[in-house]
Amino acid sequence: MADGSPLSLLDLTRDDLGALVEQWGFKRVHAGKVWRHLYLHGRNDWETIYGLPKELANRLANETSAELLPVTRETRSSDGFTRKYLLGLPDQHQIETVLMRYSGRVTACVSSQVGCAMGCVFCATGQMGYTRHLTTAEIVAQAMHVDRVLRATAAEAPALAESDHDSPHHRHERLRNIVLMGMGEPLHNYDAVIKATKVLRDPGGLALGAKKITLSTVGVVPGIIRLADERQPIYLAVSLHAATQEHRAAIVPVARKWPLDELMRACGYYAEKMQRRIFFEWTLIEGENDRPEDAHAVGRLLQTVPGQVNLIPLNPTSGYEGLPSDQTAARRFQSILAGYGLPSTVRQRRGIDIAAGCGQLAVAGP
Ligand code: SF4
Repeated sequence: MADGSPLSLLDLTRDDLGALVEQWGFKRVHAGKVWRHLYLHGRNDWETIYGLPKELANRLANETSAELLPVTRETRSSDGFTRKYLLGLPDQHQIETVLMRYSGRVTACVSSQVGCAMGCVFCATGQMGYTRHLTTAEIVAQAMHVDRVLRATAAEAPALAESDHDSPHHRHERLRNIVLMGMGEPLHNYDAVIKATKVLRDPGGLALGAKKITLSTVGVVPGIIRLADERQPIYLAVSLHAATQEHRAAIVPVARKWPLDELMRACGYYAEKMQRRIFFEWTLIEGENDRPEDAHAVGRLLQTVPGQVNLIPLNPTSGYEGLPSDQTAARRFQSILAGYGLPSTVRQRRGIDIAAGCGQLAVAGP
């Protein structure tokens, strides 16, 4: 690599790895063995792979790396459902990755950038500002870290009473769900993010289903159109938070660049081209966007775009004074949306006591 660090295998798709192996003068079939060893077995002791030429194992060991990111700190929520990992990057920056347990499933919330340029007023990452994009390897490494944690700690998972899938059945647990909702705006780092989703979906490796990966954007219009044009099979969530241009621009500054009507046109294009609905995220802030008129405005706005609204009571951050809406306001909002035929959920809050909830991820600089 130009900066002197070894090539990270986590930066490569399986095709890229095949091309590298061929370029080194070995048969492409060996790439599949290396890939399985890395992603299925979580190992990088290449010399132990049966039938792998010794010279290839040596070159991999000497010229590439497949290291995950070191854990600087792990924090566990008091209810045991959420773990937040502070992971170190080679340039001394740090990012956060969250493992969340909901009834019957485990989800990794993965970061795509160090900081974020979008500046949403209620978000701790936005309050940090933007530092840099993550590489594909740094995104993949976060998912692999959570997968390893799940494998290693399956037996000690908390006993959840909500579903038969929970408690003792964690024994063979693997990562199955990813949300690109951690630090950063994934569509601002499109190429690295989409390549990472290809690596994660590869059936010979982690084999995550495309429908189990959700990319969340605050409204980067060109990225939404590109997802549709390229028919990227992952799911899309769009953070709305306000249903008029003026209101939205006040809490989501990027709306000044891509106004609401342009965003809704892009969403309509996406839904039509992909023949699927979009998840619309709505952070419920008391008195700010949780009034009946706000719910009616959402109902009218989403009449032409097939969608589902995920309501997320605001999670506290030090840089924003707003308060979360209470249960009554959330239920009232839901019932108004239902009147417009719009399905909605109120997101279970997870990890608030360790600042691992939506909009709470932030770390100090190096
Ligand atoms: S909510 Fe998302 S897009 Fe907005 S500042 Fe935070 S990380 Fe960036």
